[in-house]
Amino acid sequence: MTDYAVASPAQARLTIKNSDQLFPVRRIYCVGKNYVAHVREMNADERDEPVIFMKPSDAIVRGGGEIPYPVLSNDFHYEGELVVALKSGGYNIAEDDAQSHIFGYAVGLDMTRRDHQLNAIEKGLPWEITKAFDHSAPVGTLTRVEDVGHVNDAVLRLSVNGDTRQDANVNLMLWNTKEIIARLSQQHRLMPGDIIMTGTPAGVGAVQTGDKITLTCDGLEALSISIGGLAA
Ligand code: MN
Repeated sequence: MTDYAVASPAQARLTIKNSDQLFPVRRIYCVGKNYVAHVREMNADERDEPVIFMKPSDAIVRGGGEIPYPVLSNDFHYEGELVVALKSGGYNIAEDDAQSHIFGYAVGLDMTRRDHQLNAIEKGLPWEITKAFDHSAPVGTLTRVEDVGHVNDAVLRLSVNGDTRQDANVNLMLWNTKEIIARLSQQHRLMPGDIIMTGTPAGVGAVQTGDKITLTCDGLEALSISIGGLAA
């Protein structure tokens, strides 16, 4: 057994529907700005390259529960997203081959200190304070491809205290999962255990202590998160 000098970090992991196995999370990649309203009426040639950022794997909150309201923010936002989990990876993966690397899908929340994001964009600062803080990545139970197929046409819906705030089909993504995997693999060698938060549709907004967020997507396990008091 390896003798570490300090406590060894715990492996982040996700639960899997219809399985006793766990999915080990290596990296959390996130796609920014991946939906626009009325995208079908838009010219696809006008698309920008996807914005990619990361969260640390220990920001995962597995399967729901309570997360604290972070300090250093007065504008704590939800972003409901489809999450893709990879069983294999590679560098410079072809779009035609991209889906073969997908283990399964889940719903997840890209929790965001929106006030800091606006400040970071304005001043050209890094995004860790806005996107990569503790408890910023609640992710639901994974459903394997063999149980759900590929999730390319499914309604993603987020409610806060029962009121629907986000309601969009994932087929409205500007960059679909194949295109995301192909492009992301040109930036980084993808590996088994990587997950990708694929971006949020319209309707993001702030939550307060005591609010309950419920996120669903056709064919996938729901995720419920309640907002606790200030992080201590
Ligand atoms: Mn997001």
